[in-house]
Amino acid sequence: MRALSASELLSVWESGNGQVPLQRALYMLAVACPEASYDSVTRLTIGQRDARLLALREMTFGSKLRGLTDCPECGNKIELSFDCSDIRPATETEQPAELAVESNGREVRFRLPTSADLLAVNSPEQLLERCLLSGANHMKENFVAAVGEKMSSADPMADIHLALNCPNCGHKWEALFDIVAFFWREISAAARRLLREVHTLASAYGWTEAEILGLSPARRRIYLEMTGT
Ligand SMILES: [Zn+2]
Repeated sequence: MRALSASELLSVWESGNGQVPLQRALYMLAVACPEASYDSVTRLTIGQRDARLLALREMTFGSKLRGLTDCPECGNKIELSFDCSDIRPATETEQPAELAVESNGREVRFRLPTSADLLAVNSPEQLLERCLLSGANHMKENFVAAVGEKMSSADPMADIHLALNCPNCGHKWEALFDIVAFFWREISAAARRLLREVHTLASAYGWTEAEILGLSPARRRIYLEMTGT
């Protein structure tokens, strides 16, 4: 995997515009990992996929993540600033092929969901059913909750929560961090910025889009400064 280049970033943005977030996530990784087949990317667990997206984000835009959120208590706007390493588990754990939960002496065996599973189902119930390996007839409500908990703890990057507190009212809460949505917003903003730069430089120098995108960011910036914009 390597950072998205300026022209890859634009094509990811252009193709991703018409896609749902799940497809966007897979497409971003497929572009950044030409050595891996699309099929193998869809077979990553959600946590493995999101860990790779976070790594790709770090390579492309750096390790600092910044965002805005609203305090659910007082509505105050809160600026978030954290590092990729803050949300990455300290130790990389190998995802088990098979998991099990037991209740009242009965056992349910299942595996972690992948993007291929998500693409194939329409509801959380179908997803659970698809990931079950044995013991399906024991799937009562308490099992469903236990399976969900076990899936989260075995695939921690699939479910990242940020501990937040509001400096205005002191409220403390946990917010879900969605790397796919976060990275996509940044890609959209960067694509628009790149297109503006292409417009300015093409107007000033007559260069083609490909020529301008092929410049290093440092050269592009200096030429932009020279055009006085
Ligand atoms: Zn507040």
